[in-house]
Order: sequence, then C-alpha cells, then structure tokens
Amino acid sequence: MLNEALKVIKLAYEDGRNFLFEYEAKSLCRLYGIPTTLFKVARNIDEALQVARDIEYPVVVKIISRDIVHKSDVGGVIVNIRSDEEVINACKMIKDNVLRHNPNAKIDGFLVEKMAQPTTEVIVGMTKDPQFGPTIMFGLGGIFVEVLKDVSFRVVPLTRYDAEEMIKEIKAYPILKGVRGRPPADINALINIILNVSKISSEISEINQIDLNPIFAYPKGAITVDARIILEKG
Ligand code: ADP
Ligand code: MG
Repeated sequence: MLNEALKVIKLAYEDGRNFLFEYEAKSLCRLYGIPTTLFKVARNIDEALQVARDIEYPVVVKIISRDIVHKSDVGGVIVNIRSDEEVINACKMIKDNVLRHNPNAKIDGFLVEKMAQPTTEVIVGMTKDPQFGPTIMFGLGGIFVEVLKDVSFRVVPLTRYDAEEMIKEIKAYPILKGVRGRPPADINALINIILNVSKISSEISEINQIDLNPIFAYPKGAITVDARIILEKG
C-alpha cells in the first residue's frame, strides 16, 4: 500500500504538480482503508457520459483542473445529476464557469462520482506544525470549522484513544451523538478515518497537507466526499 501510494505521488511530481488531483487523493485514501465515494475520471464530455452510465444515476460531476483549488467556488461542482442530458449540460456549464473565472485554466478532465446521500458533515485534516510535525485536525463541516473554529488537534502518531478523545472534545459533539431526532453518527468509523490519516501522515513524508472535507458521517459508516492532498515541493 505504501508502494502504491508512492506511485501516485511520483506521477503527480512527473506531471509537474505538488498536489494530487481529487481522484488521486481519493485513490491514496482507499489504499489506506479510508472509504470514498465511487468515482471515475473522464477526459472529455463523451467519456463523462459513458462513466456516468457505468456509475449509475444520480451522479456528481466535478472539474479536474490543475489551476483550480476550490472547485465549487468557481462553479466547478454540480450535484444530483439524473440523466444523460443533465451530464452533458453539467459538463458544459462547469467548463464555462471555470473558464469565465480563469480564461487560462487548463481543463484536465471531469470527475464523475456517485452522488452520496447528504448527512452530517465532518472534516479531518493534517498540517505540518514547524515544531511538532504532522498534526491532525477534526471538526464538523461548514460553519463549525469556518466560523466557530470548533476543532480539535493531536500530534501524529495517534492512538485509538487520542482519536476518540479528539472527536468527543469538540463543542458540537452532541450533534454527532444524535440530537432532536437526528440519528447518532458512527463514531467508530470516524475514529478509523482519523487513525488512517495519522498512518498516511507518518508513513509518507512527501505529503505536506491533507484535507478531507467533507466526510459524510452516517449512522453506519462514513465516506470521504472530497479529498485534497498537497505535497512537499518536488
Ligand atoms: P470543493 O471543496 O473543492 O469546492 P467538493 O468536492 O467538496 O468541492 O464539493 C462541494 C460540495 O458538494 C461538498 O461539500 C458536498 O456538499 C457536495 N458534494 C461533492 N461531491 C459529492 C458527492 N459525491 N455526493 C454528494 N454531495 C457531494
Ligand atoms: Mg470540499
């Protein structure tokens, strides 16, 4: 699994990038046992149609571009696509949106994914602290992280106990435990993702930053819906 992961990273460096495309980051996640949405890469609109049929509707289409970091900020993500016609329209719209935002952007392709049922969103991240090295962050998605800064941190390598503690110490933990008719999230599935991000971070020194945002936390299981991995300068 380490060798396979290093291959993915080598390909990115050879392509002149110091970051992984979402599909590469998700492949790496899967190598380390982190569940992700089912996805396929299409180089053009015709291929997007083919792979959407393979994956089966509903699907999500996302831009693949070395020049775009936050895909939805530039209209590069369209969810809940339910027919061939909608796939074609979504690809055209995404291309237009991206090029309007950055006329020089290279369109590397389209990522077609299985649409996952929306639910409670959490985030797991890794950054390298100059003093402590790889550090894992956990929080709930959206405003909880961006506005309320309700997050917890632990330094790699984490024990199962560390992972459990960092989930339980955020203020929004009651939301994960289940409130007002919301079912509880599968805490064990979240612990496993945190531990696997810790494992990736301690094994692969070429990785500078990991951002799994969002992870959909279901009553049974959790899946990574978006993954971004930044590499050390090659
Ligand atoms: P970015 O963070 O680069 O803008 P994301 O891949 O996170 O792009 O997509 C933006 C949002 O679209 C996500 O936060 C999520 O709410 C939704 N989304 C993305 N992919 C899926 C999917 N496969 N199933 C359901 N919702 C999705
Ligand atoms: Mg995202």
